[in-house]
Amino acid sequence: MKPPYRGRIAPTPTGYLHLGHARTFWIAMERANEAGGQLIFRDEDLDPQRCKPEFSASAIEDLRWFGCDWQEGPDLHGPFGPYRQSERDTLFLEAWEQLKNRGYIYPCDKSRKDVARAARAPHAEDEAAEPIYPENWRPPLGHGRDAESPGAINWRFRVPDERRVDFDDARLGPCAFECLRDFGDFLVWRKDGVPAYELAVVVDDAAMQISEVVRGEDLLISTARQLLLYEALGLTPPGFYHAPLLCDTSGQRLAKRNRSLTLRELRAAGHRPEQLRQSEDWWSGLDD
Ligand code: GLU
Repeated sequence: MKPPYRGRIAPTPTGYLHLGHARTFWIAMERANEAGGQLIFRDEDLDPQRCKPEFSASAIEDLRWFGCDWQEGPDLHGPFGPYRQSERDTLFLEAWEQLKNRGYIYPCDKSRKDVARAARAPHAEDEAAEPIYPENWRPPLGHGRDAESPGAINWRFRVPDERRVDFDDARLGPCAFECLRDFGDFLVWRKDGVPAYELAVVVDDAAMQISEVVRGEDLLISTARQLLLYEALGLTPPGFYHAPLLCDTSGQRLAKRNRSLTLRELRAAGHRPEQLRQSEDWWSGLDD
């Protein structure tokens, strides 16, 4: 029997949400409703430097104003809580330990700058693509296996040498990314003591029994990385639907820094959610 549909919306509270976020979340809600399933709100407030409680609160308030509705979340509770990632560190540490014991990850003292200077550019032209971590910087297999805790150092996932990650996207169809060509060894734990996005999101999507992840198509490469983590942790991956990104009339992608389009300001300027959902901007990219 097919498991019940469970979708999620998972904003990172580093700023006010804009119309692009709202559209992705709206699509997530529609897919959950069409499947007669549940939608979960998860607050991805892990980054201690960049996340702020006021943005967690505004995300809930602004999305509710916009008309989004969810059945489980930090404001409603539910059987899979807590729904804030900052309260779920035990689960993340368990996953770190499993990956470390199985030899999938290693401690790495190179900074982002070191990597950017030394690395090859990725083949993929995706904006989420990062420089490929040089293979000759990898420590021997087993390095770090004795560590009892992550400590104040970054940890990276060693991607397999010859491997293509394939998945079937519910909107885009078959997608494929090649290890060491499209992406290299990636961070799973940060030296400031928190799990990196790729690890936290996999652990939580699995723990919350999410059956389909709806996210922007800027995260396609992340999905490929995450599929390797599901495999390494022995977890069943969900399905994926990558939504098109919302562009403004000049074709520029909306970003949080584009303040004029935050939901807050649209609301303050007197816009109504129904009207925003019928605007020309709203439909950009949706007809493919
Ligand atoms: N918190 C992530 C973001 O806002 C979630 C992305 C995802 O996995 O859907 O980019």
